Amino acid sequence: MTKILTIISGKGGTGKTTVASCLAVMLSREKNIAVADCDVDAPNLGLSLGLKEKDYSSLVKIKASEKAELIKEKCTGCKKCLDVCSFNAIKWNKKQNIPVFDKLLCSGCGTCKIICPENAIRLKKIENASIGVGETYGFSIISGQLKIGESGSGRIVMEVKRKAREIAGKENAELILVDSSAGIGCPVIASVNGSDYVIAVTEPTPSALSDLKRGLKIVNHFGIPCGIVINKYDLNKEFSNKIEKFAHKNKIPILGKIPYNKEFVKALVNLKPAVVYNKRFEPLFLRILNNIKKSIRFINKKRKLYSMPGSHSLAIAKDC
Ligand code: SF4
Ligand code: SF4
Repeated sequence: MTKILTIISGKGGTGKTTVASCLAVMLSREKNIAVADCDVDAPNLGLSLGLKEKDYSSLVKIKASEKAELIKEKCTGCKKCLDVCSFNAIKWNKKQNIPVFDKLLCSGCGTCKIICPENAIRLKKIENASIGVGETYGFSIISGQLKIGESGSGRIVMEVKRKAREIAGKENAELILVDSSAGIGCPVIASVNGSDYVIAVTEPTPSALSDLKRGLKIVNHFGIPCGIVINKYDLNKEFSNKIEKFAHKNKIPILGKIPYNKEFVKALVNLKPAVVYNKRFEPLFLRILNNIKKSIRFINKKRKLYSMPGSHSLAIAKDC
């Protein structure tokens, strides 16, 4: 069965996508992989791998959201719907004596539909995202993109992962690398759920450590083994030590420490993964890959020793 490796970062801007693009290129040199960009609010993994919008094909439109719509001929203008919207999405058209729904503000909660005595409001399914498939560095990249102002990002992530599994099956890919969004919301939960291993990317700042702990709580909830990568570790070595202590206490392996280097920024500007832009980064990411493999081997050995069932039953971080 195709394994899923997911990259998260509690805090945004830690270098998650840089790590994802480098690991994708290094992994693809060893085996058939597919890559899923599940940062549906701001998908830019493809960009950092040199793909532009026109390079994506098989665009699938997703209708996973609902909006309120008026059935004009049924509306009596009673105004009962006007004050019930918590999202302030209903305005009044004095001239026509009817409510007007702001599509950007409407969350599709359905309260106005329930309150309307004339059944003059319906919820209409609307297109809220698209999924495209591109190819770069010898692997397929499946990318989801939420429309501006739309909700339902968790559901879109599930769709991106479903499409990634379908493509991985067709292309005999052994592994799907998932680039999750930052934070701890719906899209992150949907990205992490069903993964076989999670890589948490952080940086040596108090806010990054705090957000890392929150992200690891999700990973721990699903009992998925994980490891940590500290990016820009040398900018604050003292704080990096603090993260290492936290990892040690919670029996989470440190998979790698990446030094600060302007070449990473130059690689991003040139739309190239850092390992391609500057080959001297290759050994660094190879070491991270080897540490991931070691960590997975260790977990499998432990599972066999203690006859632990299922692939998601092992809780690594006890109090993170
Ligand atoms: S469906 Fe909900 S959010 Fe949308 S207009 Fe009605 S009450 Fe407001
Ligand atoms: S509650 Fe129904 S009938 Fe009354 S104004 Fe709103 S849409 Fe029209």
